[in-house]
Amino acid sequence: METHDIAVIPGDGIGLEVTPAALEVTRAAGRRHGFGLRLTEYDWSCARYLSTGAMMPFDGLDRLRGHDAIFLGAVGAPGVADHVSLWGLLIPIRRAFRQYVNLRPVRLFEGVESPVRAEIDLVVVRENTEGEYSEIGGRMNRGFPEELAVQEAVFTRAGVTRVLDYAFDLAARRQGHLTSATKSNGIVHTLPFWDELVNERAAVHPGVRWDQEHIDALCAKLVLEPGRFDVIVGSNLFGDILSDLAAAVAGSIGIAPSANLNPEREFPSMFEPVHGSAPDIAGQGVANPIGAIWSAAMMVEHLGHEAAATEMVAAIAHVLAKGHVRTRDLGGTAGTQEFTQAVLAHLS
Ligand code: ATP
Ligand code: MG
Repeated sequence: METHDIAVIPGDGIGLEVTPAALEVTRAAGRRHGFGLRLTEYDWSCARYLSTGAMMPFDGLDRLRGHDAIFLGAVGAPGVADHVSLWGLLIPIRRAFRQYVNLRPVRLFEGVESPVRAEIDLVVVRENTEGEYSEIGGRMNRGFPEELAVQEAVFTRAGVTRVLDYAFDLAARRQGHLTSATKSNGIVHTLPFWDELVNERAAVHPGVRWDQEHIDALCAKLVLEPGRFDVIVGSNLFGDILSDLAAAVAGSIGIAPSANLNPEREFPSMFEPVHGSAPDIAGQGVANPIGAIWSAAMMVEHLGHEAAATEMVAAIAHVLAKGHVRTRDLGGTAGTQEFTQAVLAHLS
């Protein structure tokens, strides 16, 4: 039997609750489709930061390097600033392993209430290693009336081209439509460059219909008519905002999955639900495990088991459509375990 070597970072808060649920469902899918998991757990987290001063050990990236994939629950804790977990764990992993595509599918499942009435089945492709998330810049004159802050965004031809090519290819495999998020009327250097590169890459992917929208108008359209989108590609910041917005439109942030992909497979890719550690509900056993289970399904697909991945997502859809078992964020009363058991029952 094929065995995949997975690094597991449950993290903090509800990460500790949804990670075992997702891995249990993955094991069940593996039994049906002839693969197994060898799990290595790492306690890297804000809890670790609070006791040792570091999110992960100094050789953390080297320890991850040999794994086939990384599964992450969530990191975050009250009293630890978000930039600590971002710059102490997530961004180093994304950059070291060239995970330049952040893939965030969004679907409105039957049985889930949404603020909009539309068929939603789209994917946000977020550039994951450069753009607005850069350390270049600084602050001056702290505390004086002349105080100022400057932050540079970095867009490279190679970095933008590779994520655009991924998005065009993905659109070609789906409904053949790509929307590029821009704001080249207000941002006069980087985003016109982005637009030029979209034009260039479109010429190489003639089978894909594409258009571009300013980020503000795009946000409005995602709320008003989300059904018209297939693949949306955006910079690091725009992609982040769009995927949270789209996830909320599709019912709950507890549903949304993500994959940090190294498409060339030189390094492990990382799979994590979009939600954070949710300290307000942590430890109560009520977290929605769908985002984690769906992220695990994306991992299974990346590892080459497409049929197993499809079954995992279909099992989620089935339980939601039946309507009896739902977590609190979706208006139900089920806990994490009860929902997970319902998914497992459908899988076997
Ligand atoms: P962090 O600091 O880790 O990012 P956060 O509180 O900023 O945590 P989230 O963890 O994403 O952000 O939580 C936002 C809101 O959504 C919270 O009210 C939380 O309870 C809710 N939420 C997030 N994930 C889930 C989930 N899986 N199931 C149910 N509710 C969730
Ligand atoms: Mg947060």
